[in-house]
Amino acid sequence: MYITSLTLQELREEVRQIGWEPYRADQILNWIYKRFVFDFEQMTNLSKEQRAFLKDNYLIHSLDLLNVVEGGDSKKFLFRTKDGHILETVLIHERDHLTICVSSQIGCAVGCTFCATAKDGLIRNLRAEEIIDQFLQVQSLTKERIRNVVFMGMGEPLANYENVRKAVEIMVSPWGLDLSKRRVSISTSGLINQLKRMAQDKLMKELNLAVSINAPSQNLRESLMPLSKTNTLEELLEVLYGFPYPPDRRIMIEYVLIHGVNDTVDHAKELARLLKKGRKKFKVNLIPFNPDPELPYRRPPMENVYRFQKVLWEEGISTFIRISKGPEIFGACGQLRSKRFVLR
Ligand code: SF4
Repeated sequence: MYITSLTLQELREEVRQIGWEPYRADQILNWIYKRFVFDFEQMTNLSKEQRAFLKDNYLIHSLDLLNVVEGGDSKKFLFRTKDGHILETVLIHERDHLTICVSSQIGCAVGCTFCATAKDGLIRNLRAEEIIDQFLQVQSLTKERIRNVVFMGMGEPLANYENVRKAVEIMVSPWGLDLSKRRVSISTSGLINQLKRMAQDKLMKELNLAVSINAPSQNLRESLMPLSKTNTLEELLEVLYGFPYPPDRRIMIEYVLIHGVNDTVDHAKELARLLKKGRKKFKVNLIPFNPDPELPYRRPPMENVYRFQKVLWEEGISTFIRISKGPEIFGACGQLRSKRFVLR
C-alpha cells in the first residue's frame, strides 16, 4: 500500500490496527511531507522494527521519474506510472515563487480539438498518491519550497473528483504539505455538474478556480470543445455567477487564442458582451495557442493578442496575457502532452 494514499486520520487507523500508538502516523507523515524523507530507514524516531515493518509493507513513491527537460523558466518532469503510462509535470519559475503544474489523468475524455492530450482519449484517472508523488519528487529535486499548485496538466481534474479532492486535502492540511488553499488552482473545461459539486464542497470551494471558455459563442465553443454540447455556455456561466466566492475573489476565465479561429476583434467584443454581467466576478487569462505539429491550429501574432486584450479592458474586464514560460514545454491544459515524443 502507498502511504501517500492515506490521510492522517486513515494512517492513524492503519497503525492502530497494527498495534502501534496513533502518533506514529503523525511522525511518519511528518518525515514525508515536512522533511521530504522518502526512505523508511531514515525515519529515526521510529524503532528499528517499525522501520523494517514499514519497508516490508508500504511504499511512498508511486511514479518513476524518467526524464527532466529544461526550457526557459520551466522544467518538465516525465514520469512513468507502475502500469507503464507516461505523464508530465511542469515546474514554473515565476518572478518570486515556484508553481507546479500537475496532471490528474492519463489522457482526457473531454476531447478539445486544440489539445494533444485529447487525441489519446481517457486512459485512466490518476490516483491521489500519483498526484501527490508528482509534487514530492519535484520538490525533492528543487531547493526552494514550492508554494503554488495548478491542476492544469494532463486531464480534466473535475472528472477525477475523488482522487483530486484527496490529493488537495493532503496538499492543504497542516499535517500534509500545508499549502494555502488560495495557492491551489483547479483548471477545468467546465463540467457543470462537477462545478456544482465543487461549489457545495467545503474544501474544494475555497480553491482558485479557472474555467476554460475558449469561445464567445455556443456554436464556436462546441466546435472547439465538444463537451459544450451538454455543458452549454449559458448554463456554465449561470453556475459560475452563483459560485460561492467572497466578493473580493475572482474566477479565472481561460481563453486559448487560436489564429483565425477565435482571435478577432469581433470575437473579443462578443466575449466582452458575454462576460459583462460578471465583470466583478471574473478575470480573463488570454493564452496564445502553443503550436503542435499534430494539430491544425496556429498561434496568433502578438498584435492580435494585444488587440483582443484591449477590447476586453475597454469593457472593464480585467484581462491578462499568459505567455507560456518556455513555450517549448508548457502550454494550456492538455498541451503538455504534445512533446511526448521526447521519449521515443
Ligand atoms: S484541453 Fe484539457 S480538458 Fe480539453 S481535452 Fe485537453 S486536457 Fe482535456
